[in-house]
Amino acid sequence: MTNNNNNQIKVTKEQIKEEIRKNLQEIYNTSELNLLEKGFDFAEEAHQGQKRLTGEDFIFHPLRVALTLSKMRLGAKTVTAGLLHDSVEDTPVTIHQIKKKFGEEVAFLVQSLTKIESVKYHQTERDTILAKENFRNMILAMAKDLRVIFIKLADRLDNLKTLWVLPPEKQQRKASETLEIFAPLAYRLGLTKMGAELEDLAFPYVYPQEYKLTKSILGTRKEELEKYLQRLIPIIKRQLQKNHIQPVKILSRAKHLYSIWRKLQKEDMDINRIFDLVAVRIIVEKVEDCYAALGALHQIWKPVPGRFKDYIALPKPNGYQSLHTTVFAEEGKIVEIQIRTQKMDQEAEWGIAAHWFYQLLKDTKIYKKRKKFRLPSKYHWINQLREWQKKFMDSDEFLESLKVDFFKDRIFVLTPKGDIVDLPDGATPIDFAYQIHTDIGNQAISAKVNGKVVPLDYRLKSGEVVEIITQKHKLPSPTWLEFVKMAETKKKIQEILKKKRVLPEADKKNFKVRLKIICQDKIGLLDKILQIIAKQKITILEHHGKTIRGNAIFSFLLKIKSASHLEGLLKKLKKLKGIQELRIEEKN
Ligand code: MN
Repeated sequence: MTNNNNNQIKVTKEQIKEEIRKNLQEIYNTSELNLLEKGFDFAEEAHQGQKRLTGEDFIFHPLRVALTLSKMRLGAKTVTAGLLHDSVEDTPVTIHQIKKKFGEEVAFLVQSLTKIESVKYHQTERDTILAKENFRNMILAMAKDLRVIFIKLADRLDNLKTLWVLPPEKQQRKASETLEIFAPLAYRLGLTKMGAELEDLAFPYVYPQEYKLTKSILGTRKEELEKYLQRLIPIIKRQLQKNHIQPVKILSRAKHLYSIWRKLQKEDMDINRIFDLVAVRIIVEKVEDCYAALGALHQIWKPVPGRFKDYIALPKPNGYQSLHTTVFAEEGKIVEIQIRTQKMDQEAEWGIAAHWFYQLLKDTKIYKKRKKFRLPSKYHWINQLREWQKKFMDSDEFLESLKVDFFKDRIFVLTPKGDIVDLPDGATPIDFAYQIHTDIGNQAISAKVNGKVVPLDYRLKSGEVVEIITQKHKLPSPTWLEFVKMAETKKKIQEILKKKRVLPEADKKNFKVRLKIICQDKIGLLDKILQIIAKQKITILEHHGKTIRGNAIFSFLLKIKSASHLEGLLKKLKKLKGIQELRIEEKN
């Protein structure tokens, strides 16, 4: 990979700060702008003397991240969190200091980001579309707040620009993670421009051969087309004006390289079959103008049949709206034309963030009074987000709603190999084990979360790495039925216990079981156990006990009259203080 950093224009810290201030001045008040200034000083002090691998002062990275966020008009708190995003990880600064100085919310954003950072995306052979989708969902679920995702994307964007500085193995990992996880996340949030930028930055690292091939197939075609389109623009302008449409802007837009590559694959590598390498984009004021402009252009240039798309009436799943048509233009050349309003254009670049911005402007400038805000129903990209609509009363509530847990009742945990398992909230390591494989569930003896042993009834949380330790020929404990979360797990446990006759059939009469009780080695406990057994009218055929590492293990051979007697016994024993585990096994 060549160092293509040399032709970058040197920008000073002050210039970046000034641009951030300018982006926010429009919509934010003095106290919010003060927060930002505090953020500038704090970040600069925290990263004092630190260098990035590229040799530049570290502070440039958080500044550029904040700049991207300010372009998205995401608000002073988010931009400030962007400034501070690396300060807890890489400097002696603590999260408490940030909380004290910048408040709960900024601290929350910084901390959530650190959490996401700790999850690594592992590419494995079993990588499927579902696995990637799960990982994206996990990131969303862990973020708990869309602003965290925005900061993460801005961070990734800047890091990719200096990816060349990292060792090849890391380049590869970061770049493929970008193509598989972060760019799709950006698109899903409607951040089209960000998604395209991320893809083009990662493309040469992940597919160097394909990247070169695409560039050579493309050759000078893009430049030639752009020149040609420049000649079309005045013709379009005249035709629109003749029809009393005043365009806001007309520009030519080139398709980004990675999407050209994807399209080439679909079109048998024939560049001549890609009609939207460069497209003309017409921005007009009103929705009506979009359709009027379309009609006007079809009068002078015949449309290519089957190429017209009305994404205004039928938006794309991520909310994208525009009219697309392909026409035979001057000299019979085929050209794609996109027509949309200014608002649609903004949204296409900034997605959900743009909605927020528009609402904010409306609230602060035009409508002073609270007005009901509804996120357009076209955002169907995730069912949970639809809930938002009901909650949006004003921009404050919008902010609040960004905190909504997208997956309120789901969690996403990882296997030690990096596979993601999607579980209901409240699931335990046993539920996890049975999701992996019934045998792993059946033979589970203990569990580790992030490397530490946890009790089997531990409630798992998103992002945790769960490892199950198994032992051959081991059977599940009936006590698991008390705490497992999923009905499916319960069913599997009951099945095996019945099959192995550990759990007697309900109508079973007069049988023997071996009961093992693991409990604290406490004086008097054995007496209590014996009393309970006697009360249930159960005969003890034999019993013995031993002590291991402070625990007592009692083993009883019992003669039981009916299944309900046994059930009653287990219930009473479970309530006894100091009992850790009960195991039963049917004997012949
Ligand atoms: Mn960073």
